[in-house]
Amino acid sequence: MGRRQHRGRRLGRWRRWRGRWELVADSGSRWASTKAATFSESVIREMTRLCTASGGVNLAQGFPDFPCPQELKDAAKQAIDDDVNQYAITWGAQAFREGIAAKTARTYPGWTVDPETDVCVTCGSTEAMIATLLATVDPGDEVVIFEPFYENYGPDAILSGATPRYVRLHAPDWTIDEAELRAAFSDRTRAVIVNTPHNPTGKVFSRAELELIGELCQRHDVLCLTDEIYEHIIYDAEHVPPATAPGLEDRTVTINALSKTYAVTGWRVGWAIAPAGITSSIRKVHDFLTVGAAAPLQAAGTAAMALPADYYLRTAVAYRERRDLLCEVLDQAGFAFRVPDGAYYVLTTTGALDPGRDSSAFARRLVVDPGVAAVPGTSFYADPADGAGQLRFAFPKRLETLRAAAERLERLTAPPPA
Ligand code: PLP
Repeated sequence: MGRRQHRGRRLGRWRRWRGRWELVADSGSRWASTKAATFSESVIREMTRLCTASGGVNLAQGFPDFPCPQELKDAAKQAIDDDVNQYAITWGAQAFREGIAAKTARTYPGWTVDPETDVCVTCGSTEAMIATLLATVDPGDEVVIFEPFYENYGPDAILSGATPRYVRLHAPDWTIDEAELRAAFSDRTRAVIVNTPHNPTGKVFSRAELELIGELCQRHDVLCLTDEIYEHIIYDAEHVPPATAPGLEDRTVTINALSKTYAVTGWRVGWAIAPAGITSSIRKVHDFLTVGAAAPLQAAGTAAMALPADYYLRTAVAYRERRDLLCEVLDQAGFAFRVPDGAYYVLTTTGALDPGRDSSAFARRLVVDPGVAAVPGTSFYADPADGAGQLRFAFPKRLETLRAAAERLERLTAPPPA
């Protein structure tokens, strides 16, 4: 795996520590910045590579294996035929920004977005998050992050110079302890990252939780950066956009993308919505980071924003079927978990299946025999030891793929007690 060289130069020394690879600056790595040497390669994307090599069923990385809507393909093809080949406006093609604003207002009546001043189109929500942090946070500021967390937020905080303050979501229901959250906010806090629906737990933040976050953001003058990429993948709960919660209306950056809702994770088109004063900073950083997202794919984004409400209903119904199938399979295989309310992951406790609670070794074993890739829980915690004994399975897959995983997982048996 990634003992990476960059243009023939050595970046650092890879070492395995507590079940994960990390890059350590050493005397030979004259070219690794301290920041780059501080975090390791994505384990999620590494599991995908291992899975491809072993011919397994990939339930590790969260990307769909089914087609995207025809409307998006037609619009992308048309844009290419129409020679939409040059840079779009750096903060996004006008029609796409108008589509984002109109869809937001349609979906959440009362929430008004000005496409001229409040939207910045980016290369996926990944870029939207790092551009937002670089635009709003200074080195030394603290950023509150709920843990377990989507693994990008750790490196995002490091790259922006921020110090992460982790607040635990408590199993089994992934609840917030109010006192712990209050204690995490201080004069040093600049932002809180809220991901709802949540990867990896499937938690959907309730209105009451968002009101508490709103109260704390107001009291400490803090920004709320929300990642709502699973907004439409929701089962037994209501998605409340934090930007509509009391106290958060004028201090929230809402990050989203085409990636998950429209099954186009490889297109790399996302956006941030925020009040004009915040958006102007994000647009400047975005311009110098990437200039802009692919112009023909922004045209497809305009088509996506015009899809009828029925598309989102059908998407949620299809995901429920996938969720229920995978949950049944995991239950029979002996994993314990809380059924997710949103997003497309099941975070499991491995229990007797992995008595040594070495998730990393267990995931590496599973990908070879019986041939199913999952992500070790260690990837979702600041201290990997906290994710020991957990594995995350993703289900944005055709039912055939999930059934193939089911057949393989049937072969999985707990080792006899010692
Ligand atoms: N945010 C969350 C919570 C995710 O789970 C993912 C992908 O798994 C991303 C962001 C990445 O989004 P994008 O492909 O739009 O960069």
